[in-house]
Parts: sequence; C-alpha cells; structure tokens
Amino acid sequence: MSQSPAQQTGRIIPIRTSSPDALPLPAAKQATVSRLPIDLLGRPLHDMRISVTDRCNFRCGYCMPRTAFGSDHPFLPQAELLSFEEITRAARIALSLGVTKLRLTGGEPLLRKDIDKLISQLANLRTLDGQPPELTLTTNGSLLKRKARALKDAGLQRVTVSLDALDEATFQRMSDANLSVSDVLAGIEAAQAVGLAPIKVNMVVQKGVNDQEILPLARHFRHSGIELRFIEFMDVGQTNQWQMAHVLPSDDVRARIHKEFVLRPAEQARHGATAQRWAYADGAGHIGFISSVTQAFCGDCTRLRLSTDGRLYTCLFASQSHDLRSLLRSEQQLPDEHIAARLAGLWSQRQDRYSQLRGSPTQDLQAPGNTPAPRVEMSYIGG
Ligand code: SAM
Ligand code: SF4
Ligand code: SF4
Repeated sequence: MSQSPAQQTGRIIPIRTSSPDALPLPAAKQATVSRLPIDLLGRPLHDMRISVTDRCNFRCGYCMPRTAFGSDHPFLPQAELLSFEEITRAARIALSLGVTKLRLTGGEPLLRKDIDKLISQLANLRTLDGQPPELTLTTNGSLLKRKARALKDAGLQRVTVSLDALDEATFQRMSDANLSVSDVLAGIEAAQAVGLAPIKVNMVVQKGVNDQEILPLARHFRHSGIELRFIEFMDVGQTNQWQMAHVLPSDDVRARIHKEFVLRPAEQARHGATAQRWAYADGAGHIGFISSVTQAFCGDCTRLRLSTDGRLYTCLFASQSHDLRSLLRSEQQLPDEHIAARLAGLWSQRQDRYSQLRGSPTQDLQAPGNTPAPRVEMSYIGG
C-alpha cells in the first residue's frame, strides 16, 4: 500500500496497519445486509464521526502541539482526502446499517473548502426511518462567525464549539494561535443567531493549565441556553505529553461548581451520549461532563470514525484501522451493498473498550483486541 508523506516521517503518524482490502466480511457472506450489526460487546452502530481535514489553525497543546505539528509537518495531500462524493457515499452506507447521527470534525472542519456543499449533500441523505440524519459539527469557532449562515442554510442542525478559557492569556497559551477569545465568542453568537442550536461548548480541562477557568466559563454560559461540557484531558495520540497528574477528574470539577451553584443530576441526552448531564438547581441551564479517563463509557460506545483519508476506526484509541477508501475507489465499482456488508462485518467483530481497560489495574492493554499503543492522533481522527 502506498503511503503519504505524512505516513513516511515515522513521527506523528496516523496508523495504518491493515491491508487495502481489510474490511472483514460478515459471518454470512450475504450480498445484502439483512440485519443491523451489533459488536461483540452488544453495542449497535449509531454514530459516525467524519474527519474532513487533518489541518488546523490552532495548535492546542493537548491535540496538535507545535513541537510535533510545526511548519514542516507533512499534512495529507489533496489526492489522499476523501472527496465530498466519497464521504457522502460512505455516510449513506453507514446510514443503511443503522447510523442516525453524523458529526463533522477534523482538524478544523471549517478549514475544508466548500464545507457547506458537503453538508447539503449529507443533509439530503436519509436514515432507515426515512428521516434526515442528525447532522452536527465540532469546531474551534474561529471561522464560525463568517460561516454560520451558510452552514445553517446548507442543512447543518447544530454545532459544538471548543473553548478552553475566557481569560485571553490562558486561551492564547492553550490554542497557540493568533486568534482571540472574542473571535470564538463571536462565532458562538453567530451560531445562536442563525439557529444552529442547541449549541454545546467543550472545555478540555488540564489541571494547572486552565482549571482556574472552570468557574468563569460556568458563570458565562449560565442562562445562555448553551450547554458547557467539561472534558477530561485524554491520553489520545502520542504527542500531547499526557500525564494522569494533569487530569482533573470530573467529580472534582463538579464539586468546584457545586460550591457556587447547586447542581442536581439531569436527564441524560440519550443512550450512547458521551456526557453525563447535570442541571443548575436554580434553572440556569445544564452542564455536562465527559469523563473518559475516570468514568469510562465504553459500554455505550456506538461510534465509528472515518478519517480524512478514508480509514475507519472503531475506537478513538485504536492502533488499527481499516481502509474504506480503496473500496470506494475500487476499479471493480463495488456496489454500496457490498461495502455495507464489509462494514457490517467490521462492526460485528469490534471489541474495543480502551478507556475501560485503562481504568482497570487488572487488565492488560497489550492483549489481543485491547488496542495497544501506538495510537492515532486526535487531529487526524477528529475526537
Ligand atoms: N478543531 C475542532 C475543535 O477543536 O473543536 C474539532 C476537532 S477536535 C480534535 C475535537 C474535540 O476534541 C475538541 O473539543 C477538542 O477540545 C477535543 N480534544 C482534542 N484533544 C483532546 C485531548 N487530548 N483530550 C480531550 N479532548 C481533546
Ligand atoms: Fe485544532 Fe481542535 Fe486540535 Fe485544537 S483541538 S488543535 S482546534 S483540531
Ligand atoms: Fe468508545 Fe474507544 Fe472511547 Fe471506549 S475508548 S468510549 S470504545 S472510543
């Protein structure tokens, strides 16, 4: 299999260990999928996260530290990227297997040229129930002010915006980009104005780096209708210098907020949601906690990830991927049903539960099926 420059450096590299045609066949080699795939741990396939670019205009230290993603970093060349037609086809195939939710991500997805055109193609797809898919996007917000209207008009339903601090110096230090908090806040306002709602804001909490920003952000988004979610700093990829000492457990974050604003448990968004929701007792809104490190949620994980260059990952921490692009580009012009059967086969063999194993002292992460290191980078797979 030919490799892109990004793969040849041996430094920060998306991991591609499987052969070009490595999507397994389902047990019965049926041409048409007659039932929806369930993985080996009983989890259905409901969500697909699609990374549309591996590039970003930020250099968040927990994701794309400049030391590893410098000006000489070999990003994927254009020819390696899935086209909009290929992405749409992949999504259509995934919907035929029970996926109902599509999330665009990156890198920074708003850097992908004409992203609104892709969104309108995806918005025209239908789930098995004949409904449009839930269509959302995660962004650092820097280009949102400019693009919110076009995204909404194209059929995007809502956005999640990442914002780690209100304090300008902390924000600049963490994002390592020449942009300001006010750019992101203006993007959030624009998204609100055009109705890309309900909006969520993601804050990655790093102990000793931005934990002093928890309360300012909580105060800021109370009464806004926006749900602020606190994400535990995760050990994704190989470049972010992750240490447990820099993780502030969600329970501690919640306790800090609860001291100022009484919280009560809230109804969970839906089965398979990543965040545990809490409500302000005074009715000021909701917050969420994504506690991948201290409270693994693998048992409910229904997400499949598609990388910018068309590789499938069944876990954020996967060290193995599967080449969908070569099937999409096959000279044999494989029908959708054939690729759907391969995808169903892949999902049926899934047994990933990295976060659960990470939290268990008795488990061996090197055991077969337990997704050992090295792991793929977040900016390549999209979070
Ligand atoms: N660039 C977009 C953004 O930042 O929103 C989308 C891609 S980003 C990889 C998706 C999400 O992953 C963001 O909310 C980001 O904060 C989060 N993220 C990245 N690296 C992380 C890490 N090491 N631990 C926890 N969350 C992380
Ligand atoms: Fe870019 Fe998002 Fe990663 Fe930050 S978290 S470097 S904004 S891809
Ligand atoms: Fe899903 Fe893997 Fe995260 Fe567990 S570790 S929740 S299986 S992505």
